[in-house]
Amino acid sequence: MGHPVLRIKAEPVPVGDIASPRIQRLIDDMFETMHEYQGVGLAAPQIHESLRLFVAGFPPDEDEDEDASRSVPEMVMINPEITPVAGDPVEDWEGCLSIPDIRGRVPRARQITVRAYDRRGKRIEVKASGFTARVIQHETDHLDGVLFFDRMRSFQTLTFLDEYGRYWSRPDSPDVKPE
Ligand SMILES: [Zn+2]
Repeated sequence: MGHPVLRIKAEPVPVGDIASPRIQRLIDDMFETMHEYQGVGLAAPQIHESLRLFVAGFPPDEDEDEDASRSVPEMVMINPEITPVAGDPVEDWEGCLSIPDIRGRVPRARQITVRAYDRRGKRIEVKASGFTARVIQHETDHLDGVLFFDRMRSFQTLTFLDEYGRYWSRPDSPDVKPE
């Protein structure tokens, strides 16, 4: 937080460049960084590349029931466009690799449709809900220079990670967050 690149609107990736070694290497590096920090998602501006591209994914925990699941299918979204599906926003905890050791409750659309390109340059349209929809909205915000603070209704729930673990994390869910 504080690096100017996190606060500007990122440039679309030209579709003809998606297959280029530079973009393919960037995607691989982003997955590696995301896994290294045990994140659920990572947007290109977070590694100081002002491009409209993010990666996400987190494996399911076999002991979890479906409603509590914080798993996210592995995805690469290039030039994503989100359409919220009607319904009240839902508030839940978020964190961010660019804002270390802080959590807060953020309202997000419960269900969304996303149109984007995948890493092969193929047009995709995906419906997502729950935690996956939250992660996609958090990461797409990074492409517009928006951080999760900006979406909070108030700062009353801003919480240090230690206190989050002590008072607010659900004992039955893994401690994962969008990055
Ligand atoms: Zn983030």
